[in-house]
Amino acid sequence: GTTRPLVRIVIVGHVDHGKSTLVGRLLHETGSLPDGKLEMLKAVSARRGMPFEWSFLLDALQTERDQGITIDTTQISFRTRSRDVVLIDAPGHAEFLRNMITGASQADGAVLIIDALEGVRDQTRRHGYLLQLLGIKQVAVVVNKMDRVDFSAERFGAISDEISAHLIGLGVTPTAVIPISARDGDGVAERTANIAWYVGPTVVEALDALTPSQPLDLLALRLPVQAIYKFDDRRIVAGRIESGRLQAGDDIVIMPAGKIAKIKSVESWPVTPVEGPQGAGRSVGITLDRELFVERGDVIGHVGAAPRDTRRLRARIFWLHDQPLEAGASLLVRLGTRETRATVVAIEKAVDPGELASEAATAIRRNHVGEIDLSLAQPVAADPAEAFPRSGRLVIEIGGRIAGGGLVLSVDSGQRAAS
Ligand code: GDP
Repeated sequence: GTTRPLVRIVIVGHVDHGKSTLVGRLLHETGSLPDGKLEMLKAVSARRGMPFEWSFLLDALQTERDQGITIDTTQISFRTRSRDVVLIDAPGHAEFLRNMITGASQADGAVLIIDALEGVRDQTRRHGYLLQLLGIKQVAVVVNKMDRVDFSAERFGAISDEISAHLIGLGVTPTAVIPISARDGDGVAERTANIAWYVGPTVVEALDALTPSQPLDLLALRLPVQAIYKFDDRRIVAGRIESGRLQAGDDIVIMPAGKIAKIKSVESWPVTPVEGPQGAGRSVGITLDRELFVERGDVIGHVGAAPRDTRRLRARIFWLHDQPLEAGASLLVRLGTRETRATVVAIEKAVDPGELASEAATAIRRNHVGEIDLSLAQPVAADPAEAFPRSGRLVIEIGGRIAGGGLVLSVDSGQRAAS
């Protein structure tokens, strides 16, 4: 086809290493700013006697978005030669994890930014680990503020070696390591004279080379049930299609109970019937050909390709809570729309992603990563993240707040695998 592939990216890195500046620059260099915006902000800075900062652009766009002025720009996006690039906000650990894990956003690729003077920091390494944890395999590294190190090829080489070794150790080979000055523009869209020694892609070229993830439509159907509504005597099962497609007439199975039904009608929520297949990302309401007990937290799949039902999961998680996670801990686990109590049966592994050092596997400390074995209070429908990047995620809560989250590594064989 002739449609431009859309890729979603996150930009991560240690605070102050230049994320906002790079975004402002990218918007400018790709001609994505509204007419006059840059000039206006420069004039405002001058009037206030402040030096212009590229990050002001981001603040200004954010403010407009909050005030609902630019209704059509619900997210920041720009175009490269052959791609539409959408930027997913990655403000902080907790929010980033929440967005990524709850599936609000799935990034195809990431840019990891490092200040050339400061070098690779613990937070940089942690972000690398997070990207790997979230299954983001395409990572471009940018070494920013090269102007602060006189565009030294040596300094660049040292940082490049260090971060590449770290990422490769995690199983992620960087797609490029790029020397840039986000403030001045070197390496962002152009290889300037300052970095004449550099032969790789610019940031814009690296983004242009990103491959979109496999469309979620092509995976098996997963419809986590959000709610059941009664409408004119009809019971409508509502939720968002996380993967796959569905349409009226499909034979489905409701997990974990394993009950079978046929889809009678598909409504685009709230109540207009829709024709034809509906795919991933769509919120739908469906009616069934028979009265069955369905509840929030159930997952609908096609007969023969449904998720497993299980009370036992193995997960790789990132821990955010002050209190270290230990075996025996009682938690609330969220999987899709399901919420269930769970007990940590065992801590299999605990790693400090800053140091990448394994620790005694008895507790997972704040900002550390680990593998755990969970026993759930009730059977749930679950998928490994490897096969279902969207529904194979879980969030752990303590006292109503996110304490950690990550990926389902494996699901203990279902007692009732649907056939
Ligand atoms: P963030 O916290 O990662 O979003 O970082 P910002 O984009 O806000 O940048 C932090 C500071 O670094 C700001 O004062 C920027 O002006 C400065 N900065 C960003 N990029 C560059 C650069 O390429 N060169 C220099 N010298 N300063 C930069």
